[in-house]
Amino acid sequence: MCDSMNSNSHKNSKKLGQCFLKDKNFVKKAINRANLNNDDIVLEIGLGEGVLTKELAKVAKKVYVIELDKRLEIFANEVIKEYPNVSIIWEDALKVDLDSLDFNKIVANLPYQISSPITFKFLERKKGFDLAILMYQYEFAKRMAGKEDTKEYGRLSVAVQYSADVKMICKVPPTAFSPKPKVDSAIVSLVKKNPEYDVLDEKMFKNLLKALFQHRNKTVGKALVNSAHEIKLSRESVKQFVEEYSEAFDFKERVFKLPGFKIGELANLLTKFNS
Ligand code: SAM
Repeated sequence: MCDSMNSNSHKNSKKLGQCFLKDKNFVKKAINRANLNNDDIVLEIGLGEGVLTKELAKVAKKVYVIELDKRLEIFANEVIKEYPNVSIIWEDALKVDLDSLDFNKIVANLPYQISSPITFKFLERKKGFDLAILMYQYEFAKRMAGKEDTKEYGRLSVAVQYSADVKMICKVPPTAFSPKPKVDSAIVSLVKKNPEYDVLDEKMFKNLLKALFQHRNKTVGKALVNSAHEIKLSRESVKQFVEEYSEAFDFKERVFKLPGFKIGELANLLTKFNS
């Protein structure tokens, strides 16, 4: 998606999603939305040329940056020289234990190829976080923020909104980056929250999300039968479940119309049925 030579003849890696933010207005927007003060410790994923890092370091107490590409060391040295409150961790962000780092905010122009696993890694961090301001591919951001009964609504929407409030802040055009990506981007804010509904078994909830949204336009009953293997039941057992709970749950509703709490209820019924 991003493949060209930059000003320092470092070949940007397409595989590493190296589209660097050039438009200072969007850097400012992200910084403003992060509402930083000198008590904040910030995590950034992906140093790039350090444009965002420097702005974070000006206001925050400390900035941790996880960067995979050692070829960017020249930019890292320049940043650290000017801002000693920046620490670079040369690692794959997906492999770093986020609980071993003390931070309360996350601000990043994410490498889009790891959008999903890194977001769940943030959300599953035991220590939580106060606020994350993140750049994603626009389509992905819309799916994260999607509400029931819209075309963006899906497994990602329910799973992310279960543990965070998601807000789309603004759309960002390809011209804000160098090299220009082929797709639009968006800045999103995530505020970690306690789930608004109880789920007895999170594994069942996750399996159920997968099962349901493989058939988002079908009725819940049909989706469950067709994806019975995802919830570790036989088709026969699912039919029995639907019959047993037909008064407690509307299995004729379409999957894409089910709000998260209803999916939580259904997961709990399945957990009871299994026990
Ligand atoms: N923050 C910079 C900016 O806004 O210009 C760079 C953003 S660029 C979209 C993504 C950065 O993440 C690149 O520097 C890339 O090398 C780095 N990166 C890609 N995959 C990574 C991974 N798995 N772990 C850590 N960094 C990664």
